[in-house]
Order: sequence, then C-alpha cells, then structure tokens
Amino acid sequence: MKSTLLYSGYEVILTGVPQSGVNKRGARHRAAKGYIVPDELKIFINRRIGVNDRVITLIHELMHEIYPDWQEPRVESESKKMFRGLTVPQLGFFQFFVMTNAEVQSALKRQQVHSPIC
Ligand SMILES: [Zn+2]
Repeated sequence: MKSTLLYSGYEVILTGVPQSGVNKRGARHRAAKGYIVPDELKIFINRRIGVNDRVITLIHELMHEIYPDWQEPRVESESKKMFRGLTVPQLGFFQFFVMTNAEVQSALKRQQVHSPIC
C-alpha cells in the first residue's frame, strides 16, 4: 500500500468544501470525504475531517484503484481493517501525506515542546 502511494504517482490534494466543477468523467465521488480522479492521478481529500479520517479515506480511495472489482462495502470494511492494522510508523507516514503544511508545522512544534530538554 505504501509503495502504491509512492510509485503510483498519485498526488494527494486537500480540499475545503467539495467543488462543484470537478464532476468530470473518471471522478469517483464518495460522500464529502474524498474522491479519486484516475485520469489526473489525483486523490482529493476533504481537509475538514480529522487526520485519521483522512488516512482512512486515502486508503479507501487507493483500494478502489488496486481492486477495481471490489464493491463499496468491501472497500469500506477492508480499508478500516487496514487502518487498524497500521504500525505507528506506517500511520505517521500516511498522516504526513494527508496533513496540510500548517498542520505538519504545528505537530512538529508540539513535539518540541514535549521533548525532554537534555
Ligand atoms: Zn468508495
């Protein structure tokens, strides 16, 4: 899954409200959480949902790509299963992908505050 994300060339784009103009052919819409546009190699994720929800959405959309035959309920349950099975480094890797620059910055700052001074 990691390598799919790295080598597929897909770009993760965090969006505010879902735009109305992106109803292109090839775009697969999924509630308000996110969707994938295979023609453009882009995965759009709503930045208003929590970071972990974004990670699940990202996995979900990638699973549609990897397993095009899977129906929605299967993708939904498998993506949640995979999310629960992520190791801490794997989760961090996915979180990094779906966080805005500002969020990454403040996460780094928080870590500095909490790290012991030695
Ligand atoms: Zn779906």
